[in-house]
Amino acid sequence: MDLLQKLKKEKILTKEEFIFLLEHREEVREEATKLARKLGDEWYGKSVYPRGLVEFSNYCKNNCYYCGIRAANANVKRYRLTKEEIMSACENGYQLGYRSFVFQSGEDPYYNIDRMEDIVATVREKYPECAITLSIGELDRERYQRLFDAGAERYLLRHETANEEHYKKLHPGSMSLTYRKQCLYDLKEIGYWVGTGFMVGAPYQTLENIAEDLLFIKELDPHMAGIGPFIPHHDTKFKDEPAGSVELTTFLISILRIMKPNLLIPATTALGTIDPKGREAGILAGGNVMMPNLSPVVVRKDYELYDNKICTGEEAAECFHCLSRRVELIGYHLDFCRGDYRE
Ligand code: SAH
Repeated sequence: MDLLQKLKKEKILTKEEFIFLLEHREEVREEATKLARKLGDEWYGKSVYPRGLVEFSNYCKNNCYYCGIRAANANVKRYRLTKEEIMSACENGYQLGYRSFVFQSGEDPYYNIDRMEDIVATVREKYPECAITLSIGELDRERYQRLFDAGAERYLLRHETANEEHYKKLHPGSMSLTYRKQCLYDLKEIGYWVGTGFMVGAPYQTLENIAEDLLFIKELDPHMAGIGPFIPHHDTKFKDEPAGSVELTTFLISILRIMKPNLLIPATTALGTIDPKGREAGILAGGNVMMPNLSPVVVRKDYELYDNKICTGEEAAECFHCLSRRVELIGYHLDFCRGDYRE
């Protein structure tokens, strides 16, 4: 289809064109997948980059309506790893071969800037050759700068939706899209490699919203973009909403790859949760990152953003072997390097 070629050539479409492409996705899916995979292979070969994920706290002061660990959910068993537990998760990952760590949490006031700075500096000192990514939510610029100076070099903060009205339907009034975007621009200016993204099939989301998300991603020009299907959580007001689909998520992975061929794009755990072969489909559609869990098994199931999350009962080593096999079966391999963004 002409629009795919146009996207390949110009790396952007108008909002109307994106909507048209999304509406007619079944007609162009095959071509889009093929093109995306070709571009991905040109930039990153057959490598899939693993990032060892440490979900170190599920305390959160926010109340995002879709999220299982939102502050108002009294049924969550809250946990917070100690610094020693975080370091031991890293050591375990390091021994397995990981050279890229992601530290993610709710917005936990206990893990304030001083404590986070200390953790980042300790990891940086102990593993100088490893990449450190943070995903701990919204902070002011000064705090982002301190964490960067301590050694964090990448940051994941999904914008969630680029449409103001839609943002308000997914978040309480205390949160704002403007601030979220400001955080992303601050992170980028400081020098982080930035990852943003959104949930596919989030409640009230329209194809127009998705087109707006793509345009925002174009404008921000991030290094990474994480998209995964929305999955309802039983303790949220969206518990009866349908989950997002594999077909739309994988199509969007292909579109992102074509729009920005050197982007780092994860095949997310959420994608693997709605379909046993979802992550493989994500890689085959153009993804090139996976984020296996390094958190201690005893707390895994409590970092429950959505229902039926996979890999909550396995040791890091099991996840590692399982993922390696999965990736090899589709002709790729886990590449245990820092997994840098290429320019
Ligand atoms: N507190 C951090 C980390 C959030 S959790 C932050 O604010 O960035 C990471 C991501 O999980 C979120 O950005 C959101 O897009 C996703 N997520 C949350 N609830 C979800 C759900 N019910 N289904 C699918 N993804 C969800």
